[in-house]
Amino acid sequence: MTNDTAIASPTAAGSIEVRDLTFAYGRDPVLKDVTFKLDKCAIGLLGPNGSGKTTLLRALLGHLKGASGNIDVLGCDMTVKPHAARKRIGWMPERGGILPDMSGVGMVAYLGELSGMPTTDALQRSHEVLNYVGLADERYRKADTYSQGMRQRLKLAQALVHDPDWLFLDEPTSGLDPSGRVSLLELVRDLARAKGFGVILSTHLLADVREVCEEILVLRKGVLLDHGRVEIDTNGEHEVFIVEGFGDETAFADQLAAAGIPAERQERLWEIAVPRDVGAHRILEAAAATDYALRRLEAKTETLEDLFFRLVDDRSVTPDEGGE
Ligand code: ADP
Repeated sequence: MTNDTAIASPTAAGSIEVRDLTFAYGRDPVLKDVTFKLDKCAIGLLGPNGSGKTTLLRALLGHLKGASGNIDVLGCDMTVKPHAARKRIGWMPERGGILPDMSGVGMVAYLGELSGMPTTDALQRSHEVLNYVGLADERYRKADTYSQGMRQRLKLAQALVHDPDWLFLDEPTSGLDPSGRVSLLELVRDLARAKGFGVILSTHLLADVREVCEEILVLRKGVLLDHGRVEIDTNGEHEVFIVEGFGDETAFADQLAAAGIPAERQERLWEIAVPRDVGAHRILEAAAATDYALRRLEAKTETLEDLFFRLVDDRSVTPDEGGE
C-alpha cells in the first residue's frame, strides 16, 4: 500500500524545549508552568479530552498569542519568530483541514504551495505523499466525499508534503474504525521508526502511543504530570538496569563513573545504562569494590503502561482514559 521510496528520511536534527509555559484563553490557565525538552523521536502526548494537548501543540507551532514562558522549537523562539521552524514541521490538525470542492491531489499540492514550494514541485510531491499514505487511487476524487479514514490519510499527506523534520499529529485516529486506526498507526510508526521523523502524537488513547512512541508526556488539566522514556530498542548499544542497595552511594556511583558508566538516582533506585558488551557484571564489580550491598539488580523492561502509571502515580487516571 505504501511507497517507501517517496518519503525521504529527514536529515536535520533539532530539539524542542519548553520552559514555564503558561497560557489562558480566558481567565483560567489551560496550560500551567509546562516544562520539558524533547529530542527527535516519537513522543506520545497523552491526556484526557480537555487537558490542553491541542493548545500545547498550537503553542509549539507559535499559534498562541499571549503565552508566557519560553518555547524553543528547532532553535526558533516561537513566541517571536516562528516561521523558520514552521517550515520544518508538518501539522495534522484534529479538526478541519478539508476544503470543499477540491481533489485530494489538488489540496495537498495547494498546502505545499502555501508552505512555499513551487507549483510543479508541490504537485509532484502531492502525488508522492498520496501514494505513500495509500490514496493514489482516490487522488482525483473530491476530498469532501472522502470517508473519515481517507480524510485522516489526506491530512497526514498534507503534513508531509513539504518534507518536514517533525510531525505534530493531533488525535490522528479520531473517528476511525479499528482497522482504519491500525493502518493509520502503522503509517505513523513507519514515519517515526523507519523514516526517522520526530513525531508528537497527541491522543487520549494510551493504546495509540503503545506501538508508536518511545516517550510520553502526560498532561492533565493543563499540568504536565511528567515526561518519561520507554527503552524500546532492545538491540541498542546500552542495556538499562534497575539497582537498589545499601551503603556508600557516592562511592558506588563514583566507581561506576570511573568505569565510564553513568548511574542516575531515581528516588530509592538507581537506573544504570551499561554498554551491552560490558553487561551487568560491571555493576556487581562496582558494588563489591565499594561494599555496596545490592538488594536488587534487574534489567529494565518497562512497558508503556508501566511508564504511564509510574509517571501518573495515581490510579485515578486509568488507561480507560486511554480507551482500552
Ligand atoms: P485537548 O486537546 O487535550 O482536548 P484543548 O487544548 O483542546 O484540550 O483544550 C484545553 C481547554 O481549553 C479546554 O477546557 C477547552 O475547552 C479550552 N479551549 C480550547 N480551545 C479554546 C478556545 N479557542 N477558546 C477558549 N477555550 C478553549
